[in-house]
Amino acid sequence: MRILLTNVLFAALTATCLGQAAPVNKVSGPKLTEQAASNPATSATDTPLKSLPYTPGLDIESMDKSADPCVDLYQYSCGGWIKKNPIPSDQPGWSVYGKLEEDNERFLWGILDDLARNTSGRNANQQKIGDYFAACMDEPAIEKLGAGPLKPYLDQINGLSSKKQLPALLAEIHLRTEGDGMFFGFESDQDYGDSTQVIAFANAGGLGLPDRDYYLKNDPKSADLRQKYIAHIERMLGLLGDQPDVARREAASIMAMETALAQASLSRVERRDPHKLYHKVDLAQLQALSPDFDWTAYLHGIGLGQQNTFNVSQPAFYKELDHQLQTASLEDIKSYLRWHTVHSAAPYLSAAFVEENFDFYSKTLRGVPQLRPRWKRCVRLVDNQLGEALGQEYVNRTFSPEMKQKTETMTTQIEQAMAADIEQLSWMSPETRQNALIKLHKVANKIGYPDKWRDYSSVAIVRDDFSGNAERATVFESRRGLNKIGKPLDRGEWEMTPPTVNAYYNSNLNDINFPAGVLQPPLYDPKMDDAVNYGDTGATIGHELTHGFDDEGRQFDAEGNLKDWWTTEDGKNFEARAQCVVDQYSQYVVVDDIKINSKLTEGEDIADLGGLILAWVAWKDQTKNEHLESRDGLTPEQRFFVGNAQWACESMRPEQLRLSAITDPHSPGKYRVNGLVVNIPEFQQAFSCKKGQPMVKENRCRVW
Ligand SMILES: [Zn+2]
Repeated sequence: MRILLTNVLFAALTATCLGQAAPVNKVSGPKLTEQAASNPATSATDTPLKSLPYTPGLDIESMDKSADPCVDLYQYSCGGWIKKNPIPSDQPGWSVYGKLEEDNERFLWGILDDLARNTSGRNANQQKIGDYFAACMDEPAIEKLGAGPLKPYLDQINGLSSKKQLPALLAEIHLRTEGDGMFFGFESDQDYGDSTQVIAFANAGGLGLPDRDYYLKNDPKSADLRQKYIAHIERMLGLLGDQPDVARREAASIMAMETALAQASLSRVERRDPHKLYHKVDLAQLQALSPDFDWTAYLHGIGLGQQNTFNVSQPAFYKELDHQLQTASLEDIKSYLRWHTVHSAAPYLSAAFVEENFDFYSKTLRGVPQLRPRWKRCVRLVDNQLGEALGQEYVNRTFSPEMKQKTETMTTQIEQAMAADIEQLSWMSPETRQNALIKLHKVANKIGYPDKWRDYSSVAIVRDDFSGNAERATVFESRRGLNKIGKPLDRGEWEMTPPTVNAYYNSNLNDINFPAGVLQPPLYDPKMDDAVNYGDTGATIGHELTHGFDDEGRQFDAEGNLKDWWTTEDGKNFEARAQCVVDQYSQYVVVDDIKINSKLTEGEDIADLGGLILAWVAWKDQTKNEHLESRDGLTPEQRFFVGNAQWACESMRPEQLRLSAITDPHSPGKYRVNGLVVNIPEFQQAFSCKKGQPMVKENRCRVW
């Protein structure tokens, strides 16, 4: 959910998040959410908050009691919510998660606004986030500079006199640019074969559209989007001063180069197989893959002179990259670099750039009518660039030790439920069972915020230099990542900031992570009965835990190594059970005639189902000695399922749904509810549904 709409080609394989909309940054998949200026509520609500507004974990008003839960549980649970929550005009879609995220943003706005105004007595982190925010909000100063902040970089590119100089320049550009949009991505990560080691990863990238499929699909809508993308590149280059005929020629050559790179890239489904992304090479082998790119010069440029161990996630991509660099003219390479430079910097430039960037990436690609107000974009940028400084302020105000303790207890209970489940699985041999339990017991629980906060003391943030602040923060983060190579592994790191309304599992670290932002009402509501909290947050915890054992996660062992711990027979049993889920979801429609690509959503669908089952077991155990009573006309069992369903209430614009169908590993909210309960006998019982009704599946799926 970064406002930097850079492309995401290499969705981090090992982090699997809960979020339900398209990931827009490279680390993981938070969601695009915002609120509207044309929404009647906006003028009243568009003010900084001093405290987080309360929304109940189960809201009867959000239900549609006229619907039959045995026909459509999602409509029954969310019909009211959908009716009273139209999509705000600055959003590609709207959801319970999105709304909480916006509440969080307004609360963070209050914190930042205060730190920007009251400069006395601030500590070092408060100075940084306060002044970053102030500089970001200073639109007149930003406007006055226009494209000025880019000038030194454009001069550098224009000054290239030979392709031989490219590796050194690209190294510099990579350090100051987020993501993998500039030809390829280069970062540090744990070695799949030995998770105690951090090595360099050379990843595929280089595209400006959100997925390689946008370049390859032949349907009229995709062809039309490509034309609009080319026109967007032309206009952005026009803003840099290029004449229309020059910009047209440049855009054509950029599109040709990106298309060739897209053709050589793996699909999202292929990238879910870690074996397809693990190719360990030494420097000579890396150089042999792309003889025309001087890796020694590149490595020197990014400060990694002595590296000799790399994972080249997609070797075929690097062969094509080399071919492109060999055959393209120097002028074409310069055009490509200029385009990606202005593209990645657009959010930090004057309104003309911001609006043109919005026009293609939000309006055209996602159907969003209106640009988000400045404050939202600035709050998001602070979270993106100085997230653990802002996160400390957020945690101090919202996440009490009691909240931490309660959610930690719930996590332990869900893990106990999974242990009991594994111990009694009928389809697993004692040998694999033993390994599964070892892995489960090794899962690290990270709740709320990191034990050790990131140290931003070396990042200089000044009040009158927005683009300079952004660049220094990006370079800090790039170097911080690369500096991990060859050092002892830090198991305490987080990939999401504390205010984030999302959660993830990381199979290399074998840990589950729940930022404080996802443990707030209505998702975790201390005022609610256990039924609702176990149905919602309990299922989220179960979801992340199950990721360790989905089709992707199960290939990593307790230590996070890519190592098969299954007997052949048990592996086959797992695959047959997972196939039941794949077949089920492949029938569901996302939008128009586009169905779910259920090989892409397989891991998330398995995690959703496992999560809800584990939450049920943990809830029943937690309340076994209690007399549970009906509330709001719902039995405790019904409250569990409605409480669960209400996390997923959402509305999405058709354009966003089309994008999600290609890029999002999560199924649409409706199926993240209905697709589960059809498989759960306890649901049928809770609502007395009859055999043959839509929410009762004849041949139920169950993996975990
Ligand atoms: Zn997930």
